[in-house]
Amino acid sequence: MNDDHNTVDAESGESTENLDFIRTQVRDDQNEGLNEGRVHTRFPPEPNGYLHIGHAKSIVLNSGVGAEFGGKFNLRFDDTNPEKEDTEYVNSIKTDMRWLGADWEDREFYASDYFERLYEWAQHLIKGGKAYVCSLNETEIREYRGTVNEAGRPSPDRDRSAAESLELLEGMRHGKFDEGAYTLRAKIDMAHNNMKMRDPLIYRIRKVHHQRTGDAWKIYPMYDFAHGQSDAIEGITHSICTLEFEVNRPLYEWFIDNLPVPHKPRQIEFARLNLTYTVMSKRKLLQLVTEKHVSGWDDPRMPTISGLRRLGYTTESVRRFCNRIGVAKRDSTVDLDLLKWSIRNELNQTATRYMGVLRPLKVVITNYPEGKVEDMECVNNPEDESAGTRTVPFSRELYIEETDFREEAPRKFFRLKPGTEVRLKHAYFIKCNEVIKNDAGEIVELHCTYDPDSYGGQSPDGRKVKGTLHWVSAKHAVNAEVRLYDNLFREPFPEAEGHFLENLNPDSLEVLPNAKLEVNINEVTSETRWQFMRHGYFCLDSKDSKPGALVINRTVTLKDSWAKLEAKGKGKGK
Ligand code: ATP
Ligand code: MG
Repeated sequence: MNDDHNTVDAESGESTENLDFIRTQVRDDQNEGLNEGRVHTRFPPEPNGYLHIGHAKSIVLNSGVGAEFGGKFNLRFDDTNPEKEDTEYVNSIKTDMRWLGADWEDREFYASDYFERLYEWAQHLIKGGKAYVCSLNETEIREYRGTVNEAGRPSPDRDRSAAESLELLEGMRHGKFDEGAYTLRAKIDMAHNNMKMRDPLIYRIRKVHHQRTGDAWKIYPMYDFAHGQSDAIEGITHSICTLEFEVNRPLYEWFIDNLPVPHKPRQIEFARLNLTYTVMSKRKLLQLVTEKHVSGWDDPRMPTISGLRRLGYTTESVRRFCNRIGVAKRDSTVDLDLLKWSIRNELNQTATRYMGVLRPLKVVITNYPEGKVEDMECVNNPEDESAGTRTVPFSRELYIEETDFREEAPRKFFRLKPGTEVRLKHAYFIKCNEVIKNDAGEIVELHCTYDPDSYGGQSPDGRKVKGTLHWVSAKHAVNAEVRLYDNLFREPFPEAEGHFLENLNPDSLEVLPNAKLEVNINEVTSETRWQFMRHGYFCLDSKDSKPGALVINRTVTLKDSWAKLEAKGKGKGK
């Protein structure tokens, strides 16, 4: 982890000269006048899923480098695989990128915009004797490719004449042949020690509808044939990508060197983001959605940008996290608690403190006058004096947290128990005199008395109470459904052992349908974040909440569970 890698420090906003290895390379290239000092980056998603926090790292990095070096930043959809792609994904990707603050101005491109040019370049390779149409099927191609220890064998079609290959390719394009009948392959080296260089595929026959080009094409270029050339067409100076593409680099360079491209990008690889208790592969996230382990891509337990947004993360908190983890050349896994810290730390500064009772237990103050209502003054945010105060109504009937009362309580239970006194925050001292139960023996109500001299929760005579409880006036309370979230997976490395689905956390969502919130909650908007004292930070659920039927998500708990675990020596290492 690296705190101050950036030209702009995430916390202070001040400029620092401690550059990460990518920015160092970009700066050196710029200083040496490479590409006339121009810097141009891009984010190249495949529109086959929603963006996740790993993509956020790449977006913040790419758009950041573009902006910091006075350059440009493109959004380009690498839409070469039509079966899995969808306009729903295109739209969600744009929404999430805007929310992250990435600005591609008017440069929204699609690899499919270049299909015609890529086709011409394929013809160019054939004419130069550097590509051929091959009739081997998928299994045969694999067999012929050899192994890491064994050279491959040439396809029987490897020496097919250019004229014949050109004609076959034209036929493939127009649907003359069935899927799988032919492929177009680059003619490189069947004995190359990099398997990617053993005559890789360039085009496959695919008779599927494309969300942009419709049914115009019966062949689609392989990602490897489209990606680097698209960067070249767009004048991308630095093709920043994740480490798994390091082995593809010689192939990308081979294409660039053998094609009349207008420009040559420099590829730089960095380690992808992995998070504990999280899966990040789009295939697996899609499976969680389609098999309904979650409510959708934007389920607040998902590591997607839309999920994090719905959970209550702010743009700033996600960006700060991305800057804080920095970029490295080696794969590692970041602790999920660091992400949680980024939002908790922000909300601690900004969120108003409210009172909300999640599991209500009725309290009647028997010596408080019926019908009387007092407005109690509450501090909005002890971390921020300028946030001021507000009033909260107090009356004879209240709710407290069920877990704040024990009839049979151990000595160290400092909350409410029969015969002892506690403070109601900002209000009065109360004492429990009687526990009212139903026929089933369940507690339905507590009868308490209050000390009128303890107004504002101040001790009248210096006598001490140990516990301070939050509360809500029953007749003023706002009803809400509160959703509490825990990690979606119960193992820090859900993919390490067994199937990842077996490591789903069965308790990742707890719904409390009957929460009682202080009356001021009625005035919050979907942008508002607030703290419920002792419970954590919350926001409205943007999808399910309706006026009069509030649904509220807990963004993050108050306590840093990681710090606690670590202090106890129980923190699980990486
Ligand atoms: P898959 O899960 O199928 O491998 P992907 O996440 O790589 O897909 P893309 O749409 O190809 O999906 O990703 C777009 C860009 O985001 C790529 O440049 C990729 O390198 C980058 N990216 C993807 N995952 C991460 C990650 N975990 N950390 C950082 N960057 C990532
Ligand atoms: Mg990818």
